[in-house]
Amino acid sequence: MWVDTASGLAVDIAKASGARFGPEPAALYDAWPDFVGWAATVTPDFAADGTPFVASEADAPSPAPRQVFAIGLNYKDHADESGFSYPPVPTVFTKFVGSFAGPEGTLVLPNDTVDWEAELVVVIGRPAKDVARADAWEYVAGLTVGQDYSERTLQLSGPAPQFSLGKSYPGFAPQGPYLTTVDELAEPADLEIACTVNGEQVQGSRTSRLIFDIPTLIEHLSGVVQLYPGDVIFTGTPAGVGGAREPKWFLKDGDVVETTIEGLGSLRQTCASQR
Ligand code: ZN
Repeated sequence: MWVDTASGLAVDIAKASGARFGPEPAALYDAWPDFVGWAATVTPDFAADGTPFVASEADAPSPAPRQVFAIGLNYKDHADESGFSYPPVPTVFTKFVGSFAGPEGTLVLPNDTVDWEAELVVVIGRPAKDVARADAWEYVAGLTVGQDYSERTLQLSGPAPQFSLGKSYPGFAPQGPYLTTVDELAEPADLEIACTVNGEQVQGSRTSRLIFDIPTLIEHLSGVVQLYPGDVIFTGTPAGVGGAREPKWFLKDGDVVETTIEGLGSLRQTCASQR
């Protein structure tokens, strides 16, 4: 779907392009440069052809990526509150794709130590290997809002912490409400990011405070791994997570978590205890 945020209406890209692009998101990302070129020549008639965009029915913008990267300790204030020194290179783990979810819905809590992590999410738009920092934005399809929900007991268990598993319960990677292309943003590297729990602000920062910014992450990751169109990068969370508080503050049944990034929209999950 191509969403017009001004009207709240969306048109089907496969229909609007005469089946040239989509309908599967994976096919769209595989053809991303051609799609962007086509989109620049087209003005959809949202009023005539659009249907209301309903966030609660939307999936993650890239719902089935080949690879998912997540970066730990990528804001100085979050490294400080977590008691870690600043990493000399990006700290990389994955969120398994079974944790992906759309922007709105229920977050099932497997236990009583689930935490929030508001994050800027990058979706890759072209095959990328050994990309130089200066060229990296050309490989970005767009940006979206993400939550890196984290079950802290499992995440921090054992001598080598289980970041990937503790952050991959079903529904632990909601994203959306839609993908925003970089050209829509005046300052794509400096966006306000915030998280509230039951209306109380718990995180607030700017993406310009990332230790490793988006171009650096793409240079670093593509220096090792082949990146594919549709691949997803969670870029890390700022200070204010519940597990770093005294006393610790974790999510409980009925809590409402809202995550917002300037220019990209918001996520909203309502927590439900598993038992
Ligand atoms: Zn995170």
